Amino acid sequence: MKSHARVVVIGGGVVGVSTLYHLALKGWSDVVLLERSELTAGSTWHAAGLLPLFNMSYTVGQLHKYSVDLYKRLPAETGQDVSFHVTGNLRLATYKARMDEYLKYCGTANTIGVPFRVIGPQEVRELWPLAELGGTADTAPIVGALYHPDDGHIAPADLTMALRKGARARGAQIHEQTEVTAVARTASGEWRLTTNQGEITAEHVVCATGNYARQTGRMFGINVPSIPVEHQYIVYDESPELKAYRQAGGRELAVLRESDQSYYLREERMGWILGPYEAGAPARFADGVPDWFGKSLFEGDLERLLPHVEAAQRRVPALANCGIKDIVNGPIAYTPDGSPLIGPAWGHRNLWLNEGHSFGITAAGGSGWQLAEWIVEGEPGIDMMATDPRRYGPYTSKRYVVTKNEEAYRNVFVIHFPDEERADARPAKTSPIYDKLKHMGAVFGQRYGWERANWFAPPGVPPVDEWSFRRSNYFEHVGNEARRLRERVGVIDLTPFTKHEVTGPGAERWLDGLVANKVPTKIGRIALCHALTRRGGIRSEFTITKIADEHFYVVSAGAAERYDADYLQKMLPAAGSAEAAGVSLRNITTSRGCFALAGPRARDVLAKLADAPLDNTAFPWLTWRVAEVGLATDVYLLRVNFVGALGWELHFPIEYAHHLFDALFEAGAEFGIGMAGMRAMESLRIEKSYRMWGTDLSPDYTPFEAGLDRFVRMNKGPFLGREALEKQLAAGVPHRFVTFEVHDVGDADPLGNEPLFDAAGRIVGRATAGYYGHTLGKSLGLGYVKPEHAAVGGELQIEILGERRKATVLVDSPYDPENKDLRA
Ligand SMILES: Cc1cc2nc3c(=O)[nH]c(=O)nc-3n(C[C@H](O)[C@H](O)[C@H](O)COP(=O)(O)OP(=O)(O)OC[C@H]3O[C@@H](n4cnc5c(N)ncnc54)[C@H](O)[C@@H]3O)c2cc1C
Repeated sequence: MKSHARVVVIGGGVVGVSTLYHLALKGWSDVVLLERSELTAGSTWHAAGLLPLFNMSYTVGQLHKYSVDLYKRLPAETGQDVSFHVTGNLRLATYKARMDEYLKYCGTANTIGVPFRVIGPQEVRELWPLAELGGTADTAPIVGALYHPDDGHIAPADLTMALRKGARARGAQIHEQTEVTAVARTASGEWRLTTNQGEITAEHVVCATGNYARQTGRMFGINVPSIPVEHQYIVYDESPELKAYRQAGGRELAVLRESDQSYYLREERMGWILGPYEAGAPARFADGVPDWFGKSLFEGDLERLLPHVEAAQRRVPALANCGIKDIVNGPIAYTPDGSPLIGPAWGHRNLWLNEGHSFGITAAGGSGWQLAEWIVEGEPGIDMMATDPRRYGPYTSKRYVVTKNEEAYRNVFVIHFPDEERADARPAKTSPIYDKLKHMGAVFGQRYGWERANWFAPPGVPPVDEWSFRRSNYFEHVGNEARRLRERVGVIDLTPFTKHEVTGPGAERWLDGLVANKVPTKIGRIALCHALTRRGGIRSEFTITKIADEHFYVVSAGAAERYDADYLQKMLPAAGSAEAAGVSLRNITTSRGCFALAGPRARDVLAKLADAPLDNTAFPWLTWRVAEVGLATDVYLLRVNFVGALGWELHFPIEYAHHLFDALFEAGAEFGIGMAGMRAMESLRIEKSYRMWGTDLSPDYTPFEAGLDRFVRMNKGPFLGREALEKQLAAGVPHRFVTFEVHDVGDADPLGNEPLFDAAGRIVGRATAGYYGHTLGKSLGLGYVKPEHAAVGGELQIEILGERRKATVLVDSPYDPENKDLRA
């Protein structure tokens, strides 16, 4: 083993080897992979090898598509066959909501370019003659299906060997029987890894250790939220019916998924592999994989699988006629939301994760592709937020991860409703007024561990969601909350906001170099600022307030706490440098709460409590003051809000939460004050065309594409991303952000990720968000289109749940385009 490498990848499963391959493909040949046992010895050797393209996530969908395309090319490139059976993949639906899920997915698939077909029962019969169409007392009728002609199954070990060959051919080295046992930083900032075969120093380290992710993380001092869960599949003997069908010339049957019964079924040597995702599968190895486990499996637990086996036998009666050859029960890495952890580790430079893969055979190609891009180029080529390890924070205790991972596993096949809020491990993080909100009828959702009120059920209305792809039980109540904020006054609890304090003589200069807008120079001024990637894409959005000389208050999305904190920390001037002494950064997220008070009567309410003048001259829009409010001191009042109303955000020392809440409601009673939740905020912000970080704003688009030109100061001096913006301006901005109204919607509004078409039916863009604009009475969407389709009044079409609807481009901010309300 050499003593130094540019990158060391720890872990020789399919994911680690793919990362190595892609690093070498990008021209970094000084790369080494270390495997404690032999390649594929973790979960890879016993995987069923399915490659489902179906995924509701725009990011993960792109990774899976890349993989499937790569795996088709690999044999020709490497000379190693990978046994890719392109059988196609058939997902059945037995009721309407399931079909809605498939139709919603079709929008994502269209924007990514994944081929699919939505088919009816008769075509299911033709594709899968051994399946019963149902409609009997014990088997639900098939109402339709989603068919992917391009995917199928592969031999995971052969795939790993092909990637290994491709990596080695480009100079990469692989050492088996080499376990990393300890790590340290060298004085020059590299990683020194101790192994049972000696030491190796590396500039970068990638952890791709599958079920070992937590113990690997511990070596680096990070708590990786990946804990495996048991997953089983049954291998059947030869099936006489299948044999007869194949001998009569039938082609290999598509991989069959009966989502409503939570199992997959595929052919295997004239027999079957049946893989259920059952309730009750336990998390394993929460404290690490014991030494004795090695390349082993758990005992099979057929009892747990029986309901799914019986359901599969009803759908495919041939199953009942073959014996069970084997049960494979192995650990499968999971994360609380079921998506992998691909990207930088927090708190350390040049430490990368490619962990937590539950569909790792499918995702290996794509995750290696993007991680290599990230390491070599400094950033990924696509928006990777959905898989960024920093989407989790310090709240991922062992118990949280165990509970959520078991939930994620048993929910693999549940319908992924856009308004779904999973119940386990809750409530975990709450705002101080959580109980008060609950008594007011709050129906909560969870984001970044925080409970957030989505809407409020009025007295007599059950405080529960009926999840749907269409307008649902809360529609009218969300509308009332939205109207209250436009007509009277309301409060939104935004305590989860991420809050940082940046101080010191170098604070302004440092912040200014990070963002495209000019950081405020006058005390009391607020500026909306975007941190860009080197490619000019939007990585973060900060509301920056100058609260004193050399003192800035920086607010960003609640779900971005670790993502932003880690970024800011890593962008600080190098320790020991002269600049470093001039900037200090403090995360104060949990020491201040935040209530947004908004609506035409907001000034009347606040005037009864605050010791500050609130008129437009003394306290104009986009300014800040510190005030006493009621009994509370040191309350930051920011004259901004995300709903486009007259109003203030009150950022207060957390200990005043109860007092301030009660005081606002007492003072506001005469003006009809009430609470509003996240869904009303969504409706209102879309009426104002306010772009949301993480959905409308992402590294895929620059601020010029996002129509945020007024927040970019090209001539203010250097900032990260400026060169890319210059190039884009010279070459032409490829997309424009639009707000559009959808006509004749029926009961389904756009939600984001729908394709947008021109009149001739060509895809010209994609929606990033959508909602019913309750106070405009219009179904609204936001999204990006090619510039020639962005003119106000222009006609578009959008596909919502399989139906094309006409859409018209509106002015930016269709509600109150002149911003009279917020400046009132
Ligand atoms: C029963 C079953 C069926 C499955 N079916 C499918 C399927 O059909 N399709 C699909 O996409 N996915 C499937 N999966 C999931 C798939 O197996 C995994 O997602 C995938 O194998 C993960 O690959 P990996 O490289 O991340 O991890 P692993 O394959 O587990 O590799 C990690 C490697 O890291 C090594 N390692 C750990 N610590 C160290 C250390 N300190 N030093 C050196 N080396 C170390 C380990 O020895 C191991 O070889 C299935 C899983 C199970 C359990």
